[in-house]
Parts: sequence; structure tokens; C-alpha cells
Amino acid sequence: MSFKPISDIGEFGLIERISSIVAPTCETKPRLLEGIGDDCAVYELSSSTVQVATTDLLLEQVHFDLLTTPLQHLGSKAISVNVSDICAMNAKPSYALVSIALPSKASVEFVETVYSGMSETATRYNTALAGGDTSASSGGIVISVMVAGEAEKERISYRKGAEPGNLICVTGSLGGAAAGLKVLMREKNIMLEHIKHGEKYDKDVMSNLEEYNDAIRQQLLPSARIDIVEFFHRHDITPTSMIDISDGLASDLAHICKRSGVGAHIEEGRIPILSQARHIADEFQDDAVNYALSGGEDYELLFTLKEEHFSAIASHPDITVIGKITPAEKGLLLSDIYGMNIDLKTIGGFNHFRKKAQG
Ligand code: ADP
Ligand code: MG
Repeated sequence: MSFKPISDIGEFGLIERISSIVAPTCETKPRLLEGIGDDCAVYELSSSTVQVATTDLLLEQVHFDLLTTPLQHLGSKAISVNVSDICAMNAKPSYALVSIALPSKASVEFVETVYSGMSETATRYNTALAGGDTSASSGGIVISVMVAGEAEKERISYRKGAEPGNLICVTGSLGGAAAGLKVLMREKNIMLEHIKHGEKYDKDVMSNLEEYNDAIRQQLLPSARIDIVEFFHRHDITPTSMIDISDGLASDLAHICKRSGVGAHIEEGRIPILSQARHIADEFQDDAVNYALSGGEDYELLFTLKEEHFSAIASHPDITVIGKITPAEKGLLLSDIYGMNIDLKTIGGFNHFRKKAQG
């Protein structure tokens, strides 16, 4: 028997294989309204309410680097990325379970600082830290967080549900997380060079990054957009579909289109880009739009809305309409600033196990 390396099929191919094995068991659970394939699993509690649940892993050297990540922020991000998936269902978080695996050399103070970041952030989202598990790790640090939330059944926004003619909207501005990571990696390499050559490292190198602080903040300390969920509830809006931007706008829009069986047409000129991301892209001779399309980790919300709801969102300063849902046969198109159409599927996003970004 020959074995296929996971890198041949990538993260999403692997999830599809897992899904094909476990999906039949879902059929025996009729109250499981959504299993694998959305930002959260959705479980019916009563005829009008559902519970949503999600989990995310943070691994040292894969998701974070202790040289560039303040511990308080690490704890905060572990909670925010999960709460972001709850928001992506148009739901609100209720409690979190946190599991950690630590090498025995890790200090008590390390754990205390990470947990104080988690606790502060969970409190901000009105989420209880309700338990977890602890283990020794033979490798690096592993943090696994599960968050459960609640919603009214008819308010849930799935990835499926987008229809031709719907407006495609994003919150906040994009590209900051990828740009911030670029700067942090550059500073880390400068620091390592100093150390390698036995030079005394100037402590200010890392802390003197004010001009990049918005982008670095987006990378290290993202916020889940619970304020947008509250806005939707206040205005009685239920997006026809929604996802949080964790892999990059191109890839996450492709997830919505695939699950909804539709196409999309977005305009480059309308994509809100963090202004610092533009400056950083210039420094690195990159294109900031690529940070937004395939950088990922911005944890903003991408959603679709019936056109009749436009007036309700038009006045919101942090929601931008970037395009429209089209019939599936039109594909996924990005009009660049010169009016040329680019196939978004060729852009891709972040994908674990793949060496290069791909669709
Ligand atoms: P997100 O970026 O929103 O966290 P992912 O891309 O990680 O979503 O996951 C997509 C879907 O696949 C989700 O429904 C998730 O629950 C499911 N999934 C991911 N990994 C696994 C796994 N190892 N076993 C079962 N389901 C998984
Ligand atoms: Mg998500």
C-alpha cells in the first residue's frame, strides 16, 4: 500500500476526506443542523434556539513565535480567533474550554500571563472560561480553545445562503495582519543576526515600531467583530451568508461561493486596505491588495446581504460593499483597478500543508 503525503491534497482536501468518513454519522443526529464545513457546528436546542461551537489550535512555530509574540496577546488571540468563528455565524459566545500542552521547562509565570490575556479578552466578549485540559508536551507549546455560543435559529448565517444579486460586504480594513507579520519577521531576523554576530542587541529595535503599530496589532491582537453581530441584531439584519476572514479574502469568498453554489464579482478598488498595510507593502515591494486577498488572519467578517438591506448598512462606517454575488457560471472574478477581470481562484489563500498558497 502506498501512502499519499498530506501535502498532495492540502488542508481543505484533507478536511473533505475527513468529512466523507464522518458525515454519515451526522445523519443519525437530526438536531445537528450543520456539521463539518462552516465556521461552527450548529446544534438545535429548541424549535427556536441553537448552540454553535468551534475550536481552533495555536501551535508554537506554526501559529506563533515567542520571539515576536507578547504572552498576554497570545492568550487574547487564542480566544478572539474562536469568538470570531462564533460571530461568523451571527451568534454570540457563551463559554470557552481551553486545553494546553506545555514543555516541562515552561514557567508558571508564562502560563499565568497567557491566561490573564485569555481571561481579560473572554470577559470583554462576555464569555466564561469554563474549563479545559492540561498536559506535558514533548515538543512546543500547544493551545487549543473551544468556544460555544448561542443564537436564535432564524438569525444564524451559514456559509451557504448567498444568492445572485446579494451585496458582498466586509468589515474593517484588510491586509494589516499579513503586513504586521512581515514587519515582525523582519525585526526578528535583524535581532537574530545581531545575536549571531555576538553584538549586543538593542532592545529598542522591537519596541520602536510605532509607525507599524496598527498592522502589528492586527496580527498580534485581532478583535472578533462582536460589535457587528450586535449591529445586525439591533437592525434586524440577518446576512444571507457569512464567514470570518482567516485565510484571506479570496479563499474565504471562495468558501462562501462553493457552499452557496454561486459566483462572485468584486472590485479591487473597493477593497478596504489598512493604510499602514499599503506603506509596509511599499517597503517590501509587495502589493497590499495581495495581503488582503491571500494574507489572512485579519478576522474581519465577510458577508452577503439582500440588496434591500443596503440602506441599513450604508451609514455604518466600518462596513464596505466590495461587489455582488453572481450566478455560479460567472465564476469568481476580481476587477482590478484598470477594469481587467482576474479569476480569484488563481489567487488562493493560506492552506496548511501546502508549501505555496493555492486555491
Ligand atoms: P475556520 O477557518 O473557520 O476555523 P477551518 O477551515 O479550520 O474553519 O475548518 C473548516 C471546517 O472543517 C469547519 O467546519 C471545521 O469544524 C472542520 N474541520 C477542520 N478540521 C477538522 C477535523 N480535523 N475534523 C473534523 N472537522 C474538521
Ligand atoms: Mg472561520
